[in-house]
Amino acid sequence: MIVEIVTTGSELLLGQVINTNVAYMSARLNELGFDVVYQTTVGDNHDRMKAVLEHALSRADIVITSGGLGPTQGDITKEVSAEIFGRKLKIHAESKRRMDEHFAQRHVVWTENNLRQVTLPEGAEVFLNYNGIASGVVLENNGKYLINLPGPPSEMKDMFERSLKPFLQRKFGFKHVIVSKVLNTCGIGESLLETKIKDLILAQSNPTLALLIRPEGVIIRITAKASTHSEAEKMIEVVEAQVKARVGEYIYAVDDENMEEVVAKLLKDNCLTVACAESCTGGMLASRLTSISGSSMYIKGSIVTYSNEAKMKFLDVDKEILDTKGAVSPEVAKQMAEGVRKVVGSDIGVGITGIAGPTGGTDKKPVGLVYIAVAGKDNIVVKENIFSGDRARVRYRSTQQALEMIRQ
Ligand code: ATP
Ligand code: MG
Repeated sequence: MIVEIVTTGSELLLGQVINTNVAYMSARLNELGFDVVYQTTVGDNHDRMKAVLEHALSRADIVITSGGLGPTQGDITKEVSAEIFGRKLKIHAESKRRMDEHFAQRHVVWTENNLRQVTLPEGAEVFLNYNGIASGVVLENNGKYLINLPGPPSEMKDMFERSLKPFLQRKFGFKHVIVSKVLNTCGIGESLLETKIKDLILAQSNPTLALLIRPEGVIIRITAKASTHSEAEKMIEVVEAQVKARVGEYIYAVDDENMEEVVAKLLKDNCLTVACAESCTGGMLASRLTSISGSSMYIKGSIVTYSNEAKMKFLDVDKEILDTKGAVSPEVAKQMAEGVRKVVGSDIGVGITGIAGPTGGTDKKPVGLVYIAVAGKDNIVVKENIFSGDRARVRYRSTQQALEMIRQ
């Protein structure tokens, strides 16, 4: 079954709203075994939308739209769809009853234009909206389906799962499922990672292996197609074991689990506490470490020392080292880590000092140069990093690398 997704709305074309609906729908439809072969976006213009939908229906079996089911004049998707299928629009009793209830509960009266949201094409299958007012509809003619879903992502997703998925299953059955698993890596670049598993990538057609670059590091995605979910999971397990045998040391988490969660768990399990001394990251590391509930179990405190004076005053960094080596140096990172560990009284101390840019770099010390030190009771490690990207990226990657060093 060939599917085309048509997202509607001039705000998408203007770049004011990121098109998350198309990503969600494509991912889910592929998982359910449908081939999404076209994604189209069109503004709220009658003639252009009509042309796009007619074209979509000529080349796909199922056309799914999002957006334009609301009460205002710009919301025309349903009207254009009904026109293409030669259907009249009529108030849908159940949708209207629910709208009355919705407004009564909120002690407001609906206005005339709200009626448009419950005025639906005749003979359409209706998807009720449990998160809003505008109902979705399915129009069918000669084995072609045109399905209208609402634009607000929460409404679209709920209707997709609650109504569209069962509809598709009933009509077409799910021949196979596609399951993906993501292995999150840190501390290894894309090219080195690829070199290490290139033969595996080339050898696989099902499951497939792909590398994707994310701000938090390179991710390895394993995707399997099978007749059942558990069968796909078993296939993934085999490839996952092969990948882990090669690059397991860089994999810190699976699927949605993030680095701070992994580190938090590790610290808690080992009854260890941490303290941070941050310069160029301005407290971001502490912010990430405290983003998890129960963080008082493992983070004791954090000091942001941006200036040399602050580094000397609060962390006991040597003036001579600052003068001779500079604030961005392995020696200073070490003293920051040791200093904060002592001052705060934690098991582990972390020091971060670097040049986030875009200004302030020199030939010897370029933008992106960041020293990170992790001090324990009897040992200290310091790592030199040169991160690429803008200020935000350099700062984020510094905290990611620091977390990775705590993990190790
Ligand atoms: P409403 O009843 O709110 O008018 P609607 O079905 O008419 O809903 P739109 O008017 O097209 O939908 O969009 C409403 C809002 O939903 C947009 O302003 C935007 O914030 C969000 N939205 C619409 N389409 C998308 C999309 N493809 N991806 C992400 N968000 C979207
Ligand atoms: Mg609208």
